[in-house]
Amino acid sequence: MLKKINHIGIAVHNLEEAMPHYGGLFGMTFTGIEEVVGYQVKVAFFQIGESKIELLEPTGNESIIYKFLNTNGPGIHHIAYEVDDLAAAIKQLEAKGIRMIDRAPRHGAHGTMIAFINPESSRGILTELCQVGSQL
Ligand code: ZN
Repeated sequence: MLKKINHIGIAVHNLEEAMPHYGGLFGMTFTGIEEVVGYQVKVAFFQIGESKIELLEPTGNESIIYKFLNTNGPGIHHIAYEVDDLAAAIKQLEAKGIRMIDRAPRHGAHGTMIAFINPESSRGILTELCQVGSQL
């Protein structure tokens, strides 16, 4: 059901300040910035092999990234696994007793559909499922 790691989400206070680390020091390929207005977050992507690093900067006090940074400081926020059929994956996991934050697919960055698993059902790690190249 889970195909590969699509990306790892990392919370940062400031994209401009954090990006040279990934693009310059680590030499990853920068592939763009996108703002997800509904979630008050600005996202920068770096490609690394088949996977991506997703830097997340809050754009408002209501952002979950803002709250995360206040509690934990900068660091790994979530891991995202790619699936072929997100709606089916949600059903399969719920049938196994996994609790979802998103019980239906919603729009993520880069034209993906995403759904988060409740960390209490994923051993304390906020886990995202994403389906690439799909629209509802
Ligand atoms: Zn993500």
